[in-house]
Amino acid sequence: MNILKNQKVAIITLGCSKNTVESESVAGLFVKDGFLLTNDINCADIILIHTCSFILDAQLESQSQIERACLIKQKNQNLKVFVSGCLPQLLKESMLKKYPLIDGYVGTGSFGNIVHLIKKNKFFADTQCAGGMNDSRRRILSDNLPTTYIKIAEGCNHKCSFCIIPKLRGKYKSRTIKSVVDEAKALVDFGIKEINIIAQDTTTYGTDIYGKPRLDKLLQEISKINNLKWIRLLYSYPSTVTSSLLETIYEHDNICNYIDIPVQHISKNILTDMNRPVNTRKIIENIKKKFPNIFLRTSLITGFPNETKKDFAELEEFVKENWFEHIGIFGYSDQKAAGSFKFNNKIDKDIIEQRKQILANIQFNNVIKNNSKKIGQNFEVLIESIDNKKAYCRAYFQAPEIDNNIIINVNNLKVGDFKKITVTGFKDYDLVGKQCTI
Ligand code: SF4
Repeated sequence: MNILKNQKVAIITLGCSKNTVESESVAGLFVKDGFLLTNDINCADIILIHTCSFILDAQLESQSQIERACLIKQKNQNLKVFVSGCLPQLLKESMLKKYPLIDGYVGTGSFGNIVHLIKKNKFFADTQCAGGMNDSRRRILSDNLPTTYIKIAEGCNHKCSFCIIPKLRGKYKSRTIKSVVDEAKALVDFGIKEINIIAQDTTTYGTDIYGKPRLDKLLQEISKINNLKWIRLLYSYPSTVTSSLLETIYEHDNICNYIDIPVQHISKNILTDMNRPVNTRKIIENIKKKFPNIFLRTSLITGFPNETKKDFAELEEFVKENWFEHIGIFGYSDQKAAGSFKFNNKIDKDIIEQRKQILANIQFNNVIKNNSKKIGQNFEVLIESIDNKKAYCRAYFQAPEIDNNIIINVNNLKVGDFKKITVTGFKDYDLVGKQCTI
């Protein structure tokens, strides 16, 4: 069968927001080349599965989607199935053997080339490691408008021992300020009101192409775009969060007073084994001392190899101190390709889970305290969804998909509106509010 224009392409995206952005860039390339997009994999001529392999669960989920597509292909020989992203990058040859029905693989390096490869209509398996970013006009696929993400760089120069991303995505490669700003402008013209800045590590931005970190400059340029209400910074690396960056966040009304700084742990022993900054505590303390009104999010890993009771007690104490408005807590996941695989003293799965739960309980108490302080305060919120006469909203201190919500009663509201609300209480993690009357 020749691959022709007007064929319907279904893109299945797994993993994080970075993968979503990549899929949207590729969707833009398909549309530019005359293909049609569909959400229905059963009526697609082409299925592209953009995979994740960050942890074992993500690999299994990606594989189950590949198997699902192969089942459809068994009934429809004309269907073409392609697999892209981190999983073929990681598993390479073993995938070729395991899935003979797949028509082509592309790793992280040639993702922007995929339409070209597909049009050749020959089997391909191109798993060179990450190339540059694809600057094509994106086609927004997610339905959480008017919110989206912009990926400002590819790859990572750090060597966190638990992480295989640098192996899969290669060295850090920044996009130019112009390319990011042009993309942001196009998204705002399309109706986007909130842009979340992402990369494997956002704070290294610019060092490879401008010789020094330029995230502050990039944010300043994006903040000039008219009608862009919120810009939010995610995935910052602790030791490269500079004062100049935080001042930029503080000084610009449309840059949210919010920063996501994954710290992973606080014990110096564990941070050393993780290959991460041992002065993480000092970094967080300094940020909050100088910029007390900034809301912080982080992520933590429990049960890293060699995590003693003492290391964990230190982490517990750190969480109790309530530096972070939001915390993502993950159990250590052992991966052959990661540096930490070689460590002895792996922690028992049950203990990893118990420790996760202990931190979650501590953070829940923090959330109750933090939510209580907000009662009576007014915030501008973005209405994200409406269900059963309740509107689920977010304020500037809540990131999409990962943080809690503010719930208000519906009263002539529509999704995508910004409204002023007063917080009246809270229910578990979520805040509860009502529309301001003035
Ligand atoms: S900063 Fe560390 S955890 Fe994040 S992508 Fe780079 S190596 Fe992985």
